[in-house]
Amino acid sequence: MKNFYSNIYSFNRKILKKTVISLKKGKIAGLPTETVYGLAGNAYLRKAVLKIFKIKKRPKKNPLIIHYHSIKDINHDVVLNDNFIKLYKKFCPGPLTFVLKKTKRSKITTLATANLRTVAIRFPRHKIIRNILKQIDFPLAMPSANLSSKISPINAFDVFDDFKKKLKIIINGGNSRIGIESTVIDLTESPKILRPGVISSSEIKKCLKCKFSKKKSQLRSPGMLKKHYYPGIPVIFGKKPKNSSHAYIVFGKKYEKHDNYFNLSKKADLKEAATNLYKIMRIIKKKGFKKIFVSKLPNKGVGLAINDRLLKAAN
Ligand code: AMP
Ligand code: MG
Repeated sequence: MKNFYSNIYSFNRKILKKTVISLKKGKIAGLPTETVYGLAGNAYLRKAVLKIFKIKKRPKKNPLIIHYHSIKDINHDVVLNDNFIKLYKKFCPGPLTFVLKKTKRSKITTLATANLRTVAIRFPRHKIIRNILKQIDFPLAMPSANLSSKISPINAFDVFDDFKKKLKIIINGGNSRIGIESTVIDLTESPKILRPGVISSSEIKKCLKCKFSKKKSQLRSPGMLKKHYYPGIPVIFGKKPKNSSHAYIVFGKKYEKHDNYFNLSKKADLKEAATNLYKIMRIIKKKGFKKIFVSKLPNKGVGLAINDRLLKAAN
């Protein structure tokens, strides 16, 4: 068994060094973050970013989020504005991605931003990824470490499931604390949430003391594709299963124990439900259920983000 997972490493100084060297050379690695695991490559190197698109089978028109250690590192690549500064101070490092205008002098390869004039940036909080970002003088393009349109990995073994030994380095940083992808906010004009996440729109509004744009964003965004987060078996949203060969994802204390019932959070905690979402979907698939039924969660706060993923999974 030991050799089977020989590309999964625990974090220490030796693997930190190995990872930094390999990222510098334009190789890619599977790395932990607090949201989900990412597939990281040097955002300034076209060949590294190309590898990410290829291995994920990701359509080239879907831009990648670029990850930095801190605000000090971004000046060269993006145009800052007041809303960004306010949100950065309140939520970063953390699970919030900002879409900003790209500078003319930016070194980010156009492949990573799908030729757009905008860049999506994030400052992840997980200490392993921060350690790595601190050691390098380039940002990391890093989409989730799964095959395109599938569900995101929340630990090193989920990453291994999709890519096996095609990745030379996968770092084991435990289960991702948050378990779903970051909130994405477009700040190029008046603020607009492109993808809901655990940082909710009401928290953001409170911080910015402003209303959100009702206009449909003109930006193309991968997380906004209709088909996404597919667990590998059909997902039926908003209905109950008719027989026990179908799994039922539930939420809250009113559900009794059944072999085909999977509770996202018995205490009806939406954050806990987010953390469990992909984990439970993977368990259901591995147990051999043929379909997943799931009822809509309360459509507020993190519930919005979970319903967004479920709806797309059902598409
Ligand atoms: P994913 O990599 O699938 O987790 O999703 C990346 C998210 O980043 C999408 O939901 C987009 O909203 C956003 N995104 C990435 N790059 C850009 C960009 N250059 N312009 C606008 N949105 C972007
Ligand atoms: Mg993804």
